[in-house]
Amino acid sequence: MNSNAVSLVAAVPKGLLIGGEWSAAANGAEFPVENPANSEVVAMVADAGREEALAALEAASYAQASWTKTSPRSRGEILRAAFEEIMRRQEELSLLMTLEMGKPLAESRGEVAYAAEFLRWFSEEAVRISGDFYTSPDGTTRILTSRVPVGPSYLITPWNFPLAMGARKMGPALAAGCTVILKPAEQTPLCSLALADILVGAGVPAGVVNVITTSNPVAVTDALVGDPRLRKLSFTGSTEVGRELMAKSSRHLLRLSMELGGNAPLIVFEDADLDKAVSGAMLAKMRNMGEACTAANRIMAHRSIAGEFSRRLGERMAALRLGDGTDPAVDVGPLIDQAAVSKVTELMADALGHGAEVVVGGSRVGDSGYFFAPTVIKGVPRHSRMFSEEIFGPIAPVYEFDSDDEAYEMANSTSYGLVAYIFTESFSRAHRSIEALDTGMVGVNQGFVSNAAAPFGGVKHSGFGREGGFEGIHEYLTVKYAALNLG
Ligand code: NAP
Repeated sequence: MNSNAVSLVAAVPKGLLIGGEWSAAANGAEFPVENPANSEVVAMVADAGREEALAALEAASYAQASWTKTSPRSRGEILRAAFEEIMRRQEELSLLMTLEMGKPLAESRGEVAYAAEFLRWFSEEAVRISGDFYTSPDGTTRILTSRVPVGPSYLITPWNFPLAMGARKMGPALAAGCTVILKPAEQTPLCSLALADILVGAGVPAGVVNVITTSNPVAVTDALVGDPRLRKLSFTGSTEVGRELMAKSSRHLLRLSMELGGNAPLIVFEDADLDKAVSGAMLAKMRNMGEACTAANRIMAHRSIAGEFSRRLGERMAALRLGDGTDPAVDVGPLIDQAAVSKVTELMADALGHGAEVVVGGSRVGDSGYFFAPTVIKGVPRHSRMFSEEIFGPIAPVYEFDSDDEAYEMANSTSYGLVAYIFTESFSRAHRSIEALDTGMVGVNQGFVSNAAAPFGGVKHSGFGREGGFEGIHEYLTVKYAALNLG
């Protein structure tokens, strides 16, 4: 690392944030954070276990009573101050993100701004928590409803969006008046630690935000979800782990939000503007090197334009520069680890074994770092693994269809239902598609749906609950009703 990166990393707290204090883990336990571009250890961070997790819950439970009573405006102003500070430090946070996760600096800048937007949006939503007052149908009772915080909330985030996933949960939780325990992914804890530090600096009282970094997520999570003081779990990660956590959460009937995996179709109809469709597919596929729940996993083109579309997509993919994301000239960084490279290599081999044809790319690049070439393949049969499994890498498989109904049937034949993208110049076809697609979100003529002002989330095995938009704060609020006899 150069001296700028070294001093940047040195300034980030590496301990556990519990009750407003940064502390080491018991016995000084630590684990390394590695740069996936070169396997260099970027930092050592505290490795929490069961005891530290329970101490964080104790702090969050204690702080809950007073945090609930703070004025919505003061909660909003803390979030607003944190938004300002993140944007002031956008460059350094971007570099930190690239060092621990690998995405190119330009994408890290985009994620930092996206993360900050959740704090700005929910600073504005904090003051709009409403209730209702009305008369029962028989006229005897007045019905008063209010919305109150759910209570101490446990937030688990994945490695692929190291800052935005935490901000997307902490913004609404804090705005609603909930205290939180954040557990970032083991591979990318530094952005979460920096975010927590910024929130503390913005005025979050002790115990309201707690952060537990760990290499043992099962021990920490079992301790927290097994304790009745915890009232909510918000999880972003794989469907498999989400399912396991739902089962464990049944013991104390936790409120749940589940942002899980995806298998997004991207449909290019025969009347699409091909320039828009190719640019949209590049964005939907290559954002985060394909390591996104929203990544276009199954690109479907009408048979009449599939050849031309694949050729143009191949040209754009071949022009991408692969390398260490800290180099400003780089478009595509490394995958997160060796397991990710092995998975995409296996999926490629399976598709080729079933008769698929490489248009561009197709294999690992270099010996150091976890680089895989931007890839387009065609002629992929539906029974190949990548039709039904998340690819989570830079492979764009192009499938062909003959009719709209066939495209919808292919798009919906998956257990996932997070997002779909469609490209068409026909308004009525766009509207028919929105209704036909079994997903929580649809991108129309754009390969990007993420927006702090919009409700992000899925259906089926992609989970439930929404993050962002007017809906986001309700994940952390519960309705209280009073029946009033006014005599
Ligand atoms: P993951 O393995 O499910 O891990 C996600 C988080 O859960 C990490 O913090 C991880 O900690 C923790 N974890 C793993 N196993 C656990 C267990 N048994 N008990 C408690 N916690 C556990 O997922 P990932 O590989 O990090 O992320 C990729 C997945 O996230 C993909 O499926 C992607 O589609 C999904 N995702 C969904 C969204 C969405 O909004 N729908 C957004 C981004 C990503 P460790 O890091 O220590 O393992």
